[in-house]
Amino acid sequence: MTLPSAGPAAEQWDAAVAAIRALGGAAPIQLICHVSPDGDALGSMLGFALGLRRLGHTRVRATFPGEFSIPTPYSAMPGLDLLVPEADAYPEPDLVLVFDVAAESRLGGLAALVAAAPVSVVLDHHASNTGFGTIRLVDPRAAATSVLAEQLIERLGVPLDTEIAECFYVALATDTGSFKFDATTVAVHELAARLIATGLRPGDISRRIFDTRPFGAMKLAGEVLGRAVLEPAAAGGRGLVWTYATLADLARHDQPPYVLDTLIDPVRSVAEADVTVLVKQVSEGEWAVSLRSKGAVDVSRLAISQGGGGHRLAAGFTGYGEPGDVVDTVRRLLDDYLN
Ligand code: 5GP
Ligand code: MN
Repeated sequence: MTLPSAGPAAEQWDAAVAAIRALGGAAPIQLICHVSPDGDALGSMLGFALGLRRLGHTRVRATFPGEFSIPTPYSAMPGLDLLVPEADAYPEPDLVLVFDVAAESRLGGLAALVAAAPVSVVLDHHASNTGFGTIRLVDPRAAATSVLAEQLIERLGVPLDTEIAECFYVALATDTGSFKFDATTVAVHELAARLIATGLRPGDISRRIFDTRPFGAMKLAGEVLGRAVLEPAAAGGRGLVWTYATLADLARHDQPPYVLDTLIDPVRSVAEADVTVLVKQVSEGEWAVSLRSKGAVDVSRLAISQGGGGHRLAAGFTGYGEPGDVVDTVRRLLDDYLN
């Protein structure tokens, strides 16, 4: 078994700090996170953007590729005033920082900007990270990208304030499933304690990001969960549970796509299945496929084989055809994986 590699080397940390310290206060700095941003992508990026402002940088912009809409749970996050649509990114920034992006494919049209930047610092925690960027702060053991962002903020001498802390807390709470997943170490709780100590109200934040949704999203969830299929014999007898959601489902309930992001959680709680698949329509014949395992399967290997990526127990890829075709592919990948 390959042990997970250690965290970023000291030279990478030093290079990142030096790259930021070398910039004048008016140098344009562009921050980027992944398409369809989640709490970790937005939280790590905006918390770091606020840290740069505290350091005296006046030209700081944050963005992500694709449609410029912020999921409602994150619409009160500090630092949103620094967020701009992809089209308004600095065309020639002196420095680019990339957050929670496992592969350049997740950068959409912004990949060229990253490639052209004189310096690009990549902060990420995906084991499947493809190795792009000139300075790499990548730690697959980190529970969230915000763990790396907070360390870099500290190395730059920026004290945590309530706004930066709220961004990092949202990121940490999102990617640990509210401090439930395996990566929830002592260090994660110590970081959470430091963040809360700035004056956060974890109950309010959790209610806002996890426990609030429109009535239509609840009804939509009911339909999607109602059509779930359990295949106890699949995945070598470890069991597979899957369901799907179409654009028509979203339209019928007048809901935006992000309401599907957390729908995998009730599905993956099914006791009779190790592997969970949620197939979400992106466009005609194109589907965002979410994979989860309880431990028997490294789903990131399945996802990578399809051009996607992720973590050992949580990964995703783009699938094509009908939902049944996508699930056929996953069944086949599971058979190959387990044999
Ligand atoms: P989710 O199922 O919650 O969308 O994603 C689970 C994990 O897999 C996340 O860490 C996410 O970044 C990663 N992931 C999901 N879809 C893709 C994809 O299409 N490509 C890559 N590289 N990673 C993905
Ligand atoms: Mn993340």
